[in-house]
Amino acid sequence: MKCDQVFATIQARIDRSNYDSAYRNLNKYIIQEQASLDEIYEAYLCPCPPACECRKHLCRLHWRLRGNVTFPQFRDAFLRMFVHRFFHAGAIQALDLDRIGSGRLGGVASTLLHIHDNWPSLFKNAVSWSGTLLCTNWQDEFWRQEWSAYDKSVYWAKQWAMLLPDTCVPYDSASRVAIRECTGGAPPGYFEMLDRLRSHLIDLLNREGGTVMDFRELDAPGRAGLHFDHASIALPHLGFPYSYDYLPVHRPLSRVIDKFFYSPVTSRLLKANAGTSSSAFSGSPGQCSFSTLSGTGSLVNWSRQAHGYHVEWGGSKFTLTFAQIEVILDEFFPAGCDWKKLGASETDPPPDGLGRFLSDRFTGFTPRHASAIATILVHEQLIDFHGKKPILLRRIDE
Ligand SMILES: [Zn+2]
Ligand SMILES: [Zn+2]
Repeated sequence: MKCDQVFATIQARIDRSNYDSAYRNLNKYIIQEQASLDEIYEAYLCPCPPACECRKHLCRLHWRLRGNVTFPQFRDAFLRMFVHRFFHAGAIQALDLDRIGSGRLGGVASTLLHIHDNWPSLFKNAVSWSGTLLCTNWQDEFWRQEWSAYDKSVYWAKQWAMLLPDTCVPYDSASRVAIRECTGGAPPGYFEMLDRLRSHLIDLLNREGGTVMDFRELDAPGRAGLHFDHASIALPHLGFPYSYDYLPVHRPLSRVIDKFFYSPVTSRLLKANAGTSSSAFSGSPGQCSFSTLSGTGSLVNWSRQAHGYHVEWGGSKFTLTFAQIEVILDEFFPAGCDWKKLGASETDPPPDGLGRFLSDRFTGFTPRHASAIATILVHEQLIDFHGKKPILLRRIDE
């Protein structure tokens, strides 16, 4: 990732993020994002004095949480935007039962529990907060205090971005690397990271001579060509008057900055495979088609069914059920585990690889199935991957 970006390269990266989130997996995150913007936020006129840093960049509006949002609405908006739809019911149940383990849903559920338990003060301070990351007064004692609590889960930063959509920035494990590259290796302290991102953004606007409104417009999800189809909204609130397009055109800073540090899985695949990858993709609705993580062999095709994914790969057809995915994520990728091997060799699978785990744990799978299953889990953003020989896999929520 290069840090000397200009608006044109940032826009291309954001377009790529929106395109991938429209078609790369079956979640259609740009639709979830628009639904959440509609439901819990509002844009309002910039209230800052002329001397504020935001006004120097011709700021006209800010975003904030609406004054009538309830915790369940906030919870659903959060899950929809950042958590695979496959996990929504489990996360809500864990929260309702106060059963926050260290397992697969630990990071999401403990973050949501923190918000739930502190909702009155978080909500009051979020609704009354009028700053943006660009403003001269971009933080105060209350938020500095909140941000000082560290949690290694990536959901921890996402909660601040959900509460303060114009001030805070979410990240995942890949974008955190990109953010660090652009901020002189900013330490994990969240305040310090935001402070350096803020300087980076101000430098960019000064260099480009663009306004903050121009910057907000760099994120235009409609360019991905996917209609804002209400039927695709996860956890929809029945009767809510969702909009009919990706509006307004001036997006919250957290959304724009999140996408600006997007690290596309396909370019990481190309990098990992040093040009040998033939990562192909078909955007037909309800169907995903990609080459395997090694970039060789047949394309893996999958579509969502009621209980799992129907998979077609190299002449074979099989079902990967959601229950099997839960077992894989819980047992093969327990909380705190390090990178694990793919290990898809049919003849000599390493004992600690996913291939061996699949053949030992389930009937009908051989170590070779790990190639197709890992590809699906990576593209569905359920796990992350790294390297070529060996290919390594990891949980995504840490
Ligand atoms: Zn402003
Ligand atoms: Zn301001």
